[in-house]
Amino acid sequence: MTLPLPLRPSRHSPKVNPSPTITLDAQHLKKSYGRGKGRFEAVRDVSLRIGAGEVLAFLGPNGAGKTTTIKMIGGLVRPDGGQVSIDGLDPHRQSMALKRVGAVLEGNRNLYWRLTPLENIEYFGGLRQVPRRVARQRGEQLLEQFGLSDKHKTPVQKLSRGMQQKLAIAVALVHQPTLLLLDEPTLGLDVEASETVKTLVRDIAAAGCAILLTTHQLDVAEELSDRVAIIRQGQIIAEQSTHELIQQFSGSAYRIDCGQSIDPQRAGKIMDLGGTVVDNQVHFSSDALYELLDILRPLPIKEIRQDRADLTDVFLSLIRDGDQAPIRDLKQES
Ligand code: ATP
Repeated sequence: MTLPLPLRPSRHSPKVNPSPTITLDAQHLKKSYGRGKGRFEAVRDVSLRIGAGEVLAFLGPNGAGKTTTIKMIGGLVRPDGGQVSIDGLDPHRQSMALKRVGAVLEGNRNLYWRLTPLENIEYFGGLRQVPRRVARQRGEQLLEQFGLSDKHKTPVQKLSRGMQQKLAIAVALVHQPTLLLLDEPTLGLDVEASETVKTLVRDIAAAGCAILLTTHQLDVAEELSDRVAIIRQGQIIAEQSTHELIQQFSGSAYRIDCGQSIDPQRAGKIMDLGGTVVDNQVHFSSDALYELLDILRPLPIKEIRQDRADLTDVFLSLIRDGDQAPIRDLKQES
């Protein structure tokens, strides 16, 4: 799929090159609400960077400060402190910066329900100073790429929720942003529509767009993100490559499935090594792997699996134990 995104060419995969061109650079953002004794620090000191073509999952429990941070990045809320730079432009001082940003925010799908998909794209393109002819051309292309061409004359209110979501993303791309703020892209969608939207998100990133993804659906975050930043009580408590963070929290234990019951003699030897036997399965720590395989020889081995954490395990562990020093990817700080 080729998206009509004339972004800076992404000459490399962000997964391979750890230092892509930086699209978003937000440093030391702070925001308090209220005054005097009622003053509340919603965002205390948040720094985020996203490279071209990279997906950063920005995660945190309710009230952690995600929306406030995103609004500061998108120029909607003025920070009390810190700076935001999008392609080197400050959205709070240089309105040109806002042309680099597309947003699909939950609760505000940015669509007019009585208008058709193409009319919506043209209208919102106009708000972003995209000439009508160009918006129409890009709109037709986006609708085709998003599988909505046959609905181009259907009012939005008659589209399914998945179609509306795809259209909301298409609308956010009409001015060809380099940074896409994406909130809960698959919430409430059925399995098939979720998969389609996830594929679109990957395609958009592959075309070079930096994506700031917020979601409480941690499986979606795990699937889509290159990096994760976790915020708790207005502060980042972890920021690292998704893969490395999960690795770090994954155990060093193995599970072997023998596909047949293990005789008491072998079970005894396994227990002497600190392993446990449950039905056809052996659970043990990795340093005993080869000794265990010797004990099991010549039984058939159906599967050997390493216990692996998922992003939900990581998230819960960090949120519950968030007083520790932040986990950071030092590569990102250079
Ligand atoms: P959620 O996941 O529930 O959407 P969030 O991480 O997006 O939460 P924010 O919406 O940024 O969190 O809110 C952070 C804190 O700031 C919350 O305690 C919230 O009540 C407070 N807050 C947000 N907006 C305002 C406002 N306009 N006035 C006062 N307090 C606010």
